[in-house]
Amino acid sequence: MHFVTAKSLLTRSNGMNLYRGCAHGCVYCDSRSVCYQFTHAFEDIEVKQNAPELLEEILRKKRKKIVISTGSMSDPYQPCERELKLTRRCFELIEKYSFGASVITKSDLVLRDIELFDSINRKAKGVLQMTLTIADDRLSRLLEPNVCTTSRRYEVLKKFQERNIPAVVWMTPILPFLTDTEENIRTILDYCFDAGVKGIVLFNAGLTLRDGDREYYYRALDRHFPGLSDEYRKRYGNAYEVNSPDSEKLMRIFRSECEKHGVIHDPDACFRYIAEIPDRQTQMSLFDS
Ligand code: SF4
Repeated sequence: MHFVTAKSLLTRSNGMNLYRGCAHGCVYCDSRSVCYQFTHAFEDIEVKQNAPELLEEILRKKRKKIVISTGSMSDPYQPCERELKLTRRCFELIEKYSFGASVITKSDLVLRDIELFDSINRKAKGVLQMTLTIADDRLSRLLEPNVCTTSRRYEVLKKFQERNIPAVVWMTPILPFLTDTEENIRTILDYCFDAGVKGIVLFNAGLTLRDGDREYYYRALDRHFPGLSDEYRKRYGNAYEVNSPDSEKLMRIFRSECEKHGVIHDPDACFRYIAEIPDRQTQMSLFDS
């Protein structure tokens, strides 16, 4: 871990990354691709130590209430967050200034901040975005080795549901020849429906691979599933989009199940839902009912 002083914080789409790099070790992680130009090891977490100061400056000046998101490039609940509390301090500021917040994570450490999230959601809007992509916990331990398993993430979703804090699930990526089965898709969907999630993001039943990310992924396949990386090379070459041969069938199941359960499944509609701050009067009457 190393500390830096950042010059700016919010992206044009109101996102912020408080850390750079990630210790969770997911074998399919796009963020480790060479296009992101890391000058340090991906696991050597860069900590933007002045993020709370930068954020407060922004919030103090902003008139329009917005939802500020974190977690698109690096999980904001890194193991070091337990002690550093950088993410927590930023959420405390968001709560203090009555803005909305959204967090993308795979970690159950987010439960530490559930009360804060509850308060953010009551004042403006708080959305938990959690990744659930590998239903089999043994496989999840292999492929997402340093973070809690999928069934534990489902328990986290249930805790947020108990407090009426909305959640959106990222069901991507689906890994060809590993998780591209009807059983995997249906089990994750059952977790989602049972936890009352508002939306599920799945672009395609597949994954994307870029330079850097591809090599890391193939090394993991070679360790755990000898011969499988050759299958990928033969079928996909150096393609960016690596879709399951069953993608169409799986996407049909995904869409029809989401429609049956009234869950938003168009990715853009999910993103619009996350970014919208509801009318306060309507929101209060929902909490009162
Ligand atoms: S949690 Fe996200 S950022 Fe971290 S390794 Fe996994 S996919 Fe990459």
